[in-house]
Amino acid sequence: MLDPYRCWVEISRERLRENYRIIQQAVGSSVLLCPVVKADAYRHGAGVVAQLLEEEGARWFAVSSAEEGLALRQAGIQARILVMADFLPASREETIRQHLTPVIHSLDDLAALEAFGEPVAFHLKYDSGMGRLGTNASAAEIVRAVSALRHARLEGLMTHFASASDYDTHQTEEQILRFERLVHDLAAAGIHPDILHLSSTIPVAYGRKQAWRTMVRPGHALYGYVSPARGPVVPERQLPVQPVLQWFASVLTVKEVASGAAIGYGAMYRAPRPMRIAVVSAGYADGVPHRLSNRGQVLIHGKRCNILGAVSMDVMTVDVTEAGPVRAGDRVSLLDHTLDAQEIAKTAGTISYAVLCGISARVRRVYVD
Ligand SMILES: *Cc1c(COP(=O)(O)O)cnc(C)c1O
Repeated sequence: MLDPYRCWVEISRERLRENYRIIQQAVGSSVLLCPVVKADAYRHGAGVVAQLLEEEGARWFAVSSAEEGLALRQAGIQARILVMADFLPASREETIRQHLTPVIHSLDDLAALEAFGEPVAFHLKYDSGMGRLGTNASAAEIVRAVSALRHARLEGLMTHFASASDYDTHQTEEQILRFERLVHDLAAAGIHPDILHLSSTIPVAYGRKQAWRTMVRPGHALYGYVSPARGPVVPERQLPVQPVLQWFASVLTVKEVASGAAIGYGAMYRAPRPMRIAVVSAGYADGVPHRLSNRGQVLIHGKRCNILGAVSMDVMTVDVTEAGPVRAGDRVSLLDHTLDAQEIAKTAGTISYAVLCGISARVRRVYVD
């Protein structure tokens, strides 16, 4: 059996569907799921992922830019699409024309949206304490601005947590309180957004129900990951999701090297004894973190093999001295169920999100059942 590509990922449709169902079950049927498919669905392929999840019943998707939203429309997605981090002057027209739903982050942007004179639904993001996107205007200012709208319609109110996985701080509780206070003040002025949403993966996975409200926005969990929490978490993680993606490359060549041989750029590794090495068809241009140089591992025939020396642009070298018979063309697992993005991230000093998002465009995608 020949592997078809030099470096590729295998994406399980069934695993993705199953993760979606697990999340929907966890929050119950009264809470809407808005799968986050930004960054090309964390490199799982936004078009295919959204098509599958639309079949599963998803009525909302979240992306970061109008361009990502447009790509979903071109893939035939009919569901609502929330554009979470754009509304730049250059993309406003397109946002409205493609029936994308902008997230508005300031009252100035709200005025700009209103100036289009179109009945556009939008979601307002409130900075409840993360200090990143979202308006930090007072409730009175927000009430005044929203009450003055004649065209644009406040459909949703949202916020985002800074430290959701850290149960040693009260930051999340404080953010929820500030959000609820704004909801209350808006209601007192007769403003009732249909959709209230605060939660990404973590508050869903660790059962922080008061943050679920009308809709949740999971990304990482859909792809099978939940980052570990810190501090006294009650209840424990409740989401038995599993990784959707596996990442493979091939052995390009195998050879014996003598004791003392230098391996790769900068001779970062020197063989302490005679060794057998394999050169593998993946490098940092494919998204293998350069920080895995001399410290990461891959799997060949189920055996862990150390990365020797520098990860270079297109290849890397691994130790197969103890791996049994390894031949050119053999499959190499860079990421699978026993060596997942979480472990790779830890070794590379980064986060699992960055490992997945770092898988580059030249890595072929193969969808399996
Ligand atoms: C990326 C993002 C999410 C999804 O986060 P996960 O941790 O991947 O679930 C949700 N909301 C906002 C605003 C985001 O930017």
